[in-house]
Amino acid sequence: MKPILQNLVEMTGHRDHLRLEVSVLSTLQALSSIVQVRALEVFSKDDVEHIRPRTWMDKGEWHSAETEAALDSASQPVAQIAALHDCIQERSPHAIATLGKGRYCMWLPLWVHEKVTSCLEIVQSRPFSAQKIDVITHVFHVYKNYQSLLDYSERDALTGLFNRKTFDEQFSRFTAPERTPSTETADTGDAAHQWLAVVDIDHFKQVNDRFGHLYGDEVLILVANILRSSFRSHDKIFRFGGEEFVVLLRSTSLPTAHKVFNRFRKNVEDYYFPQVGQVTVSVGFVSTAHGSPVEILGQADQALYFAKENGRNQVRYYNDLVAEGHLQTKISNDDVELF
Ligand code: GH3
Ligand code: MG
Ligand code: MG
Repeated sequence: MKPILQNLVEMTGHRDHLRLEVSVLSTLQALSSIVQVRALEVFSKDDVEHIRPRTWMDKGEWHSAETEAALDSASQPVAQIAALHDCIQERSPHAIATLGKGRYCMWLPLWVHEKVTSCLEIVQSRPFSAQKIDVITHVFHVYKNYQSLLDYSERDALTGLFNRKTFDEQFSRFTAPERTPSTETADTGDAAHQWLAVVDIDHFKQVNDRFGHLYGDEVLILVANILRSSFRSHDKIFRFGGEEFVVLLRSTSLPTAHKVFNRFRKNVEDYYFPQVGQVTVSVGFVSTAHGSPVEILGQADQALYFAKENGRNQVRYYNDLVAEGHLQTKISNDDVELF
């Protein structure tokens, strides 16, 4: 039991989903007769549930397919694994199947908000004893509880979107110097970039003033829902402050970024908000390929400010505004570090 307890201490010392996952896999790997343990991601492709490996061990080292580049690699419809498929349908806590001689497999799906988002897979060389199932299930419960605690600290309570703290952590990691693609020079054309947009609700103070704070809160929740349904699952959406949101759009060309942000803006414009009626948003966006997090955010903010000053309910692209002479690029100050 001692190694397990040590591993549990190690597991709950992490503040990061991926490291927590690696930790639980290491804990399970240390049990007897284990051949392989992996974390599988469960995702929907063309409305069909699929799985693909997310974290696994190879030659003594943990590997993780975190990016969407690996989205299609090695993915498989859940229905191809009958035991796992039935287990999810019936909401059983785990599934067990014999894969072949000396290969016995156990799956434990992780449910988040009524949806299976991932699944642990444990292969061992002997059939699973009742005692072994018990130990694995308990380790899994600790993992599950800790996952939801992490989730809670990363999200905003009102809208369920990622909070500002999570943005600061994720975005500074994303734009770390070694990850900035130095060969990409143009923010125009079809090159795939990541884009950052700042979204701000227009005249939101009036909503509060005329209808009260509760209706204001409802508008925030509904705008968050429109955000969720307007972007793809691997784009990231944050509630940045009061009525301000940030969207990180993954691997998309400039024309598509324009199209996607405008579609979202239109979705808000066309939505009927109970009692309040019409609400609009303004958006400023920029590529994340160049500059520090502070600079990138500042540029998107400048574009947003321009949209506000020039009629609201519109999407503005920072580089266009600079090219048209509406904005001037700011001299960067490397000493400034807000994150
Ligand atoms: P603009 O079009 O220029 O953005 O005008 P605005 O009225 O939206 O801008 P302003 O920043 O003046 O107002 C934002 C308001 O958002 C002020 C604040 O009372 C309100 N607010 C911030 N957080 C919340 C919240 O959690 N719930 C509600 N109901 N209101 C909030
Ligand atoms: Mg604001
Ligand atoms: Mg506003």
